[in-house]
Amino acid sequence: MFMSLGKVIIAIGLTAISLGAAQASDEVNVYSFRQEILVKPLFEAFEAETGIKVNVVFSKKGLIQRLKQEGINSPADIVLTADGAKLMQVTNQGLSQSVDSDVLNANIPANLRDPDGRWFGLTKRARLIYASKDRVNAGEILTYEDLANPKWKGRICTRSGSHPYNNAWFSSMIVANGVAETTGWLEGLKNNLARKPSGNDRAQVKAIWQGECDIAIGNSYYMGKMLANKDQVAWADSVNLIFPNQAGRGTHMNISGVSLTKSAPNKANAIKLMEFLSGDTAQKIYAEVNYEYPVKSGVAMSDLVKSWGQFKEDQVSLADVVAQALTASKMVDKVGYNE
Ligand code: FE
Repeated sequence: MFMSLGKVIIAIGLTAISLGAAQASDEVNVYSFRQEILVKPLFEAFEAETGIKVNVVFSKKGLIQRLKQEGINSPADIVLTADGAKLMQVTNQGLSQSVDSDVLNANIPANLRDPDGRWFGLTKRARLIYASKDRVNAGEILTYEDLANPKWKGRICTRSGSHPYNNAWFSSMIVANGVAETTGWLEGLKNNLARKPSGNDRAQVKAIWQGECDIAIGNSYYMGKMLANKDQVAWADSVNLIFPNQAGRGTHMNISGVSLTKSAPNKANAIKLMEFLSGDTAQKIYAEVNYEYPVKSGVAMSDLVKSWGQFKEDQVSLADVVAQALTASKMVDKVGYNE
């Protein structure tokens, strides 16, 4: 079965996941949408602390399909994703199971996990406005709602409206302002776009640096990633970070997170790993390696992230936000956002 995986298999430790070993008592099997560079230090720390070996399959796509095909025989114990929508897909397709863990419930705020314990946020990221230092004055744009103001016509760049990051952001707008108002807002934002949506979050900041637009939307950790990349540091230096909606509901937050699979052959070890990922050691690693915000209170941010300052987060339940995913996606089609 694993032969068909080809190059997506990467082993952490000694071996890739093999079906024969899937039920060994000292192992746990992970399907990860998150990159190896991010999660490897976490798994190494877990292995060192518990002696439980972590086997990982990395892939950017296809893992949910794979889980579904494997059904109850899947060797996967947990799924790690880079956004809340994917966790919701796993859950909506009946591929996850509930976990009732005092550790997880204590470490992770209630608005960042499923009320039924089928998914848990492990890190937070803010969806920020990146504004040109040269062409946007301080205080000139303060809210997501401001992005629809006609004064920004031809000056905004975003990635596809269908990308999970934007889908969750639009969903949060629907929760805050309702469908009718958000439809009008999205139309306004679309009318302000400098170009057809394309590229990732960082490509929008690059477009500001190139003078193609003045305002972009992107996740907070990309500022850290650009500053750490000598080819991108100029892009980062061309913008100011704006934490939107500080006088109101706060800035939209998304999560990366984890679900326990329905099949989970190593359930006890899987829950241990989930708890570890929500604990101090792992939360600190997440904060340092990917410039994310810890979900566990009291864990320090990286120095860089701390330098961006304290801000007010939208405390809405992410379960309520992702429940609007389909409505948001239809709205994107309706206003022709990607055209
Ligand atoms: Fe990302």
